[in-house]
Amino acid sequence: MADSKKSRNDHPSTAVLTRGFDPRLSVWSARPAVFRTSTFVFPTPEAAERAFDITSGRKQLEPGESEYLVYSRFNHPNAEILQDQMVPLEENAEWALAFNSGLAAIMTALLTVLKPGDSIVYTMPLYGGTMGMMHNLLEPYGIHTVAVPAGHSAELDDAIRTTPMLRAVLLETPANPTMVMADIKRAALVCAELDPKPVLMVDNTFLGPVFQHPLSQGADIVLYSATKYLGGFSDLLAGMILGRDPDLRNQMFGKRGMFGNILQPDECWILDGRLPTVSLRMNRQSKNAQRIAESLVRRPEVRKVYYPTLFDDPEQIRIRLSQCDYPGAMFAMDLKGGKAAAFDFLRNLHLAKNAVSLGGMETLVCHPKTTTHSASGPEEMKLACITDGLVRVSVGIEDWRDLLRDFEQSLDAIRPMLEETGELTGKTSSRL
Ligand SMILES: *Cc1c(COP(=O)(O)O)cnc(C)c1O
Repeated sequence: MADSKKSRNDHPSTAVLTRGFDPRLSVWSARPAVFRTSTFVFPTPEAAERAFDITSGRKQLEPGESEYLVYSRFNHPNAEILQDQMVPLEENAEWALAFNSGLAAIMTALLTVLKPGDSIVYTMPLYGGTMGMMHNLLEPYGIHTVAVPAGHSAELDDAIRTTPMLRAVLLETPANPTMVMADIKRAALVCAELDPKPVLMVDNTFLGPVFQHPLSQGADIVLYSATKYLGGFSDLLAGMILGRDPDLRNQMFGKRGMFGNILQPDECWILDGRLPTVSLRMNRQSKNAQRIAESLVRRPEVRKVYYPTLFDDPEQIRIRLSQCDYPGAMFAMDLKGGKAAAFDFLRNLHLAKNAVSLGGMETLVCHPKTTTHSASGPEEMKLACITDGLVRVSVGIEDWRDLLRDFEQSLDAIRPMLEETGELTGKTSSRL
């Protein structure tokens, strides 16, 4: 909607505040108006005819001609503003599309590139809802799905090279909850050997758009649950697809209009107000998480802490250093004493709240085995290191010293139980 050319070279934190919104189109308001309308008035019948030709893809926009607004299931001003402000935040993105949840974005991307008879290769573990989509939507629909454990780069190369009718590769990196990473650039190089080249998609919810840039590493599509860090306040559901290839954009735009899963105007308006602070929030959250994770690793009640700066596998360390700017704000820890200890740990926290989801300003803690990952089979659980004692933490923007004190007092509280069972005197953390 706005003149985007003049600010094309600005840095993301500037561009997000100066691109995508033209005050003239919102009666000179400093903030965008909310355009709550389902339909748009045409100045002439000829304009209506032209708008339908363009929106349906029968004709292409002329240079300088702007996108038409027809009906809000296809497009509306608040989605356009949000999308235009999101593009500069994602390194190398040319376009963005907004959806009414992360899963809506992922479903639309998958159903755009896959048809019955095709195959998809994906890394395991995936977000539970995405995993459900593989088994309960794609497979019954005649799409062949191939899972490869995250971090097994050579196996991933093989799966990409040998799977017949491969049309899509989906990486979720880092993996939830152990932060195991897949090498995006390596997967992109293997995809590029194939003809036709499969579409490489990366779910960038955990580290993007601030700390990890899949499009610069060779991915075709970046997917988000904007419910998490982009939204940042745990108060809305949204999703986003970003990419470079205009054909893919037009196909996904068409599917979004068909599915009717565009994000509604009010939600778009709320979300675009959050974008200018996503870098501030994620930087604070990552610094907090790093200090807390690196302190808790020394506690005798903790068997292992999963966090990118605490990786011990040299290949994982190499991937992290080559593809992530910062380690992020998610960590998990395996407590001695199993489920009873994990539940007591959750019960004794005063500041951190016991809830699933992540990326909000407030710190959230959950027990994956009985919540987020409870639908996984035993093999999947083992692969994802989901033990009875595992707790997952999404660190917020509170003062890290208060959070650390909260975690430490809660570990103190489970100490007597571990002393009684003799577990404390056993092997302590492998890093000591
Ligand atoms: C939450 C999440 C999703 C699903 O997003 P919704 O907004 O809940 O639909 C997908 N992928 C990852 C990695 C997530 O954390």
